[in-house]
Amino acid sequence: MQGICEKILALPAQRYVYDFDQPSEGGRELLGGKGVGLAEMTQLGVPVPAGFTITTDACRAYMSNGKALPDGLDGEVDEHLRALEEKTGKRFGDANDPLLVSVRSGAAVSMPGMMDTILNLGLNDDAVQGLARTTGNERFANDSYRRLIQMYGQVVDGIDAHRFEQALTELKKSRGAAQDVDLSAEDLADLIDTYKRIYREETGRDFPQDPREQLTRAVRAVFDSWDAPRAQVYRRTYDIPESLGTAVNVVQMVFGNKGDESGTGVAFTRDPSTGEQGLYGEFLANAQGEDVVAGIRTPEPLAAMEKKLPRAFEQLLETMRRLEEHYRDMQDIEFTVEDNELYLLQTRSAKRTAAAGVKAAVDMVGEGLISREDAVARIDPAQLDQLLHPMIDPTAEWEVAAKGLNASPGAASGKIVLDADSAEQRGKAGESVILVRWETTPDDIHGLIQAAGVLTAHGGMTSHAAVVARGMGKPCVAGCDALSIDLAGHTITLGGHTLAEGDVLTIDGGTGAVIVGEVRLVPPQVNDDLETILGWGDEYRRLNVRANADTPEDAAKARDFGAQGIGLCRTEHMFMAEERLPVVRAMIMAENEEGRRKALDELLPMQQADFEAILEAMAGLPVTIRLLDPPLHEFLPPLEEAKDERVRRRVKQLQESNPMLGTRGCRLGLQWPEIYEMQVRAIIRAARAVEDRTGEAPLVEIMHPLVAFQEELRRLRELTVRVAEEAPDVEYLCGTMIELPRACIRADEIAQQADFFSFGTNDLTQTALGFSRDDAEGKFLTQYLEDGVLQKNPFETLDVGGVGDLMRIAVERGRSVKPGLKLGICGEHGGEPRSVAFCHELGLDYVSCSPYRVPLARLAAAQAALAASGAAEYAAAGG
Ligand code: ADP
Ligand code: MG
Ligand code: MG
Repeated sequence: MQGICEKILALPAQRYVYDFDQPSEGGRELLGGKGVGLAEMTQLGVPVPAGFTITTDACRAYMSNGKALPDGLDGEVDEHLRALEEKTGKRFGDANDPLLVSVRSGAAVSMPGMMDTILNLGLNDDAVQGLARTTGNERFANDSYRRLIQMYGQVVDGIDAHRFEQALTELKKSRGAAQDVDLSAEDLADLIDTYKRIYREETGRDFPQDPREQLTRAVRAVFDSWDAPRAQVYRRTYDIPESLGTAVNVVQMVFGNKGDESGTGVAFTRDPSTGEQGLYGEFLANAQGEDVVAGIRTPEPLAAMEKKLPRAFEQLLETMRRLEEHYRDMQDIEFTVEDNELYLLQTRSAKRTAAAGVKAAVDMVGEGLISREDAVARIDPAQLDQLLHPMIDPTAEWEVAAKGLNASPGAASGKIVLDADSAEQRGKAGESVILVRWETTPDDIHGLIQAAGVLTAHGGMTSHAAVVARGMGKPCVAGCDALSIDLAGHTITLGGHTLAEGDVLTIDGGTGAVIVGEVRLVPPQVNDDLETILGWGDEYRRLNVRANADTPEDAAKARDFGAQGIGLCRTEHMFMAEERLPVVRAMIMAENEEGRRKALDELLPMQQADFEAILEAMAGLPVTIRLLDPPLHEFLPPLEEAKDERVRRRVKQLQESNPMLGTRGCRLGLQWPEIYEMQVRAIIRAARAVEDRTGEAPLVEIMHPLVAFQEELRRLRELTVRVAEEAPDVEYLCGTMIELPRACIRADEIAQQADFFSFGTNDLTQTALGFSRDDAEGKFLTQYLEDGVLQKNPFETLDVGGVGDLMRIAVERGRSVKPGLKLGICGEHGGEPRSVAFCHELGLDYVSCSPYRVPLARLAAAQAALAASGAAEYAAAGG
């Protein structure tokens, strides 16, 4: 035993710290996104302040150690601190020329604003005087120290930010200072005393004077912040694994708040809203970076820097060009200028709107930066939803009440709410709400998730609200000066208007317009760049994409979006139309078959006209028409509303305690064959008529729902064939939905009666899991997701393990008897990227989804094909 222990102890100790200029094997997983960026930039020769990264390994060790720093970490940090002192020629805690650092978190995946950063660490009562002396700028030194106490107090000791902010506001008021920069060195010295008092009151201790102690506690605080509720919410929303952990970066401070030759800013290599190439960013003279990011002061456009700091500006442009060339992607950078010297503090792949992502990708192919495959693979299909977001109807009349920055495109109307909790509550309850705030912070994330849009009074294009809204694809208008909020009175004023919480507002994040009241919205169009990318993607994808559409309008829309057919045309909506419902009800109320047939005869021409219009809209493409699926009582009035005694009796007769599992689908068709006969007749006659008119035979597919047994489909196929013989030369396919577990298992038997299968994954999910969707969502399923019993809502993302396996069985067994069996999916999952990838892997012929999701499904299908072919090449090379 002892021998083994000695051997373990003799192994080289785990390494936890890397200098920015030391190459490491680890990459982003180990160093975090920020750390890897700083190291790569340093090694590229881009100016970056010196520093080092404590790895995510250290964070994981800390977490699994019950929040104790791992052995050896302290010693390693000491070593790297010494090296940093040598490089910078300054000493940590020195009373003459102190080394100051920032302590910054950074996980592998960028989590904007989620983790806390401490600036100016290393200052204490002595060092602040040293800093004042060496810089000859006492005001700057005091400002830096008070910021440290504030940030350290908040982040490390959890002191409420408002305590510090209030003290600052009071001081400004008493000195008649409009802005922070108007405070003098003496004012700030007073503020430091106040802050230290607050610190003592809140923690019972003095502000720590030992820089090394400051550093250790800061590192722990960063690790701890990985566990903070707001970080957890963010990770859950974006599927970021808990186990990643965060790295900590210790970076020599550079000062943008040293005077007029200094400043700080953020910049994008292309416009993150439109993708347009060119100068894009914001700049604040004589300020530290946090001022911009927090949206506290509204910054100037980057162009203002050209006049103020021309040399640093030139260098910035050159650096941005180099970074984009190196990363071959749009970058989002943070920089600071200290006495005319430029320093980069961060680079990352830029968050962008879908429109910007698409445009930049197409442009970069043109510039030779990336390949077409890269361009297709790079667009997030889920984000495409944004491009398909509503806009204000150009023909609507409205008046702009106020204007802000067009921070995230799309338009939304909703009721005004003034805090994140209400936004969450009312949003979850299904109301459309606009979150209206002075500015948002990461603590508002849960409200942002549920709001239809965000409006803020402060902050620029890179303020928290703007960045988060763009990421989520929600409309955001930021920095709306004309907005003022009275939280206590629950009202806002907007230009000349006063509005109460609950009043309706419309925002247009594409133009920055804020409008009182509701405005008509229209869906946007697919633009040329998206067409280009989708066109490239179409060359790689194997899956066809169809749409679910019940009306000729939807069919035409689907075709515009590139649908290659209709995968699901439901017929029940046609029964619901106002003028038809009485006939449908007469059919249901009929005492006998004869009465039913009479009503059905009346419905036949209507149904035929519906089909003709759809078949014509889809000329040349397949159309799958599903015969009546819902239980008949859905067409009758609810019992409480039924006045006629006869109707009441019928409603009671038809009532079921579990309609989802009741008399519906093919069971209806077998019980009242005349209904399906009428529908088949209408389809066949419509096909005949359209062919006569256009000379082209429509490709119709007649689909029977909810089949569980071969015998059901055998009988219904017989019915279909018999009726179709009335027009012998019309061609059609006869197939079935596969939406019951038994149908999957017995797919070989069922396939003998079917020309095609279409997976109805909504019902298949309900029946495989034993979840009725209406009783699950918003109830126990929500609880499951919150508690982590399930990671994903199986109605949104296919449950690959369970439902997916049933599908796999159905595919194998179905094709074992009929190799050419046509296979598709028409549940909502057909438009969800991960589920589309699974369908590709299963070897289905097509996915079918709602018309607006067709572009997304096309892209997801292309990406699935690219990923699979990449994997195949890799396997070939490796094997
Ligand atoms: P976040 O991820 O929230 O942006 P950062 O760690 O990037 O947090 O830092 C917050 C702000 O402080 C940024 O504006 C950044 O540029 C600035 N900053 C961080 N480290 C330094 C440093 N060493 N010198 C000057 N400014 C810094
Ligand atoms: Mg940053
Ligand atoms: Mg179904």
